[in-house]
Amino acid sequence: MDCLFCKIAAGEIPSAKVYEDEQVLAFKDIEPQAPFHVLIIPKEHIASAGEITPENSGIVAHIFEVAATLAKEHKLADGFRVVTNCGEQAGQTVQHLHFHMLAGRNLGWPPG
Ligand code: AMP
Ligand code: ZN
Repeated sequence: MDCLFCKIAAGEIPSAKVYEDEQVLAFKDIEPQAPFHVLIIPKEHIASAGEITPENSGIVAHIFEVAATLAKEHKLADGFRVVTNCGEQAGQTVQHLHFHMLAGRNLGWPPG
């Protein structure tokens, strides 16, 4: 399958890795929108948040555990945001589930 994030997960395309285990990979976003901007992805291909099922939803819990661990490691005590864009109107550009983790500035709400 021609999927950018599957290739990054497999190590076929390099990334600035910040965390890895058997199930997930976290790496720096190539176009950071905040001083801290990491993408957390499942290694398994899931196209988007719209494809979460009872069979694969455990990975989402694990991704949030990783986010909490990264927040502690990177001392993000002032706050952080975890967000996933699903579909065209939300601005999803890579069709492999990924959670943006952003921190290091006032992020504003609602998002644009
Ligand atoms: P989204 O627009 O929500 O689908 O997010 C896709 C994100 O992937 C964007 O923030 C891009 O900057 C980021 N991105 C695209 N290609 C790469 C890459 N090779 N390495 C790291 N981040 C990437
Ligand atoms: Zn993929």
